[in-house]
Amino acid sequence: MIYLENESLEDFERVTITNDLLMLKGSLLTNILDAETGQRGFLLTSNNDYLEPFNRGVADANLNLKMLQQLTRSDKTQQDMLLQIEKLMSQKFSELQSTIDLHYAKRFDESLAIVNSDKGKLFMDEIRSRLQTFNNNLIQKRTLQKLDFINLQESIRLFFILESIFFAIVLLLIASIVSKTILKPIHNLTTSVKAFEIDKQFIPVQVNTGDEIGILSKAFNKMAQKATFKSRNLQGDFKRVKQERDKALVESISDPLTGLSNRKFMEVELNKLIQSSKRYGTDLSLMILDLDHFKQVNDYYGHVVGDIVLKAVSKVIKQAMRASDLTIRYGGEEFIVVMDHTSSDEAAIKAEILRQQIENLEIDELKGKNITISIGVTQLDQEDTSLESFVARADEALYKAKNLGRNQCQLI
Ligand code: GH3
Ligand code: MG
Ligand code: MG
Repeated sequence: MIYLENESLEDFERVTITNDLLMLKGSLLTNILDAETGQRGFLLTSNNDYLEPFNRGVADANLNLKMLQQLTRSDKTQQDMLLQIEKLMSQKFSELQSTIDLHYAKRFDESLAIVNSDKGKLFMDEIRSRLQTFNNNLIQKRTLQKLDFINLQESIRLFFILESIFFAIVLLLIASIVSKTILKPIHNLTTSVKAFEIDKQFIPVQVNTGDEIGILSKAFNKMAQKATFKSRNLQGDFKRVKQERDKALVESISDPLTGLSNRKFMEVELNKLIQSSKRYGTDLSLMILDLDHFKQVNDYYGHVVGDIVLKAVSKVIKQAMRASDLTIRYGGEEFIVVMDHTSSDEAAIKAEILRQQIENLEIDELKGKNITISIGVTQLDQEDTSLESFVARADEALYKAKNLGRNQCQLI
């Protein structure tokens, strides 16, 4: 590019020099004519004032010729042309000078003879012709130089366009490399990190490079994989622990044989119900049930059948009562049912229904023999401050039922 610019500058300078040469050439002819005019004026008037333009014309012509030679020193043809012009010019000026010298010496005839001869005119014609040839050469040269200059300008323009295209391609390549090696891997890493942070979902980052982003992505993959694995294990552990805890909780409040709630659970829940009943003035009733002569069942059929009977009776109690009622295995063959929002009369009706259902219950293992149950019913009253007196009164009712012949309900 710098070379082209220098070339262009040189071409421009060459055109400028040629223009200067054309001007100098024009001046040269004028100088010669000025010198001749001065000589003619002097010969005609003998006035020395005419020698001044003569001398100036000669001096200027020599000076312009020197400058022309100087400016064309690199062109052999032009130098040769100027050498011929210099010779002719010197002959012309010495002819003019000799006429002036003769005039001074008052040898007017000889001076006039030289002027009248064709010699001076021939010199002048020859100089004109040579100058015209020089002029043509200059114009031809200038035309070629202009063409060179235009071609060079075209080359510069083309070079500039190619240079721009080249830089655009380089820029696109850099952008593509940056996008491929930096932006895309960062985007992939960020997407995976976000997915892991928000959804706890592990999407492995694709790692194709060994640079810092590649190392970071690999480290993230490892860490996230480990964390996911640990998290899954933890979730499994947590689920297992929760299941075990729930199981332990159910077991801690349930009776393993019948599935009813146990005594411990009853004590906690019954106390809560007593508090609530006292605060809101709602009815709360309780019945205590005891299998009649169960010892005999065990003795006659065996302990295993005894267990089957306990389970069958528990099932009837559970089905007969509301889901909101507390159904408890209180002891060996004793059960308690607590009924919230229930008066003792309502409880007694329920108890009687239950008694009949158990009396009519058919258990295969008993081979046609039925079992009966005695029930004591009572309602929470003002004096009951805790479950002990409440349960004791129901127990009292049960004792009464037993004493009055069993298989019946008694209400206190
Ligand atoms: P009563 O009519 O006076 O209540 O007579 P009973 O025989 O039912 O009363 P007792 O208290 O004398 O006997 C209760 C029996 O219940 C004694 C025991 O062997 C039996 N029993 C207690 N728990 C279980 C148990 O889990 N399984 C079995 N098969 N029997 C049990
Ligand atoms: Mg008993
Ligand atoms: Mg009994």
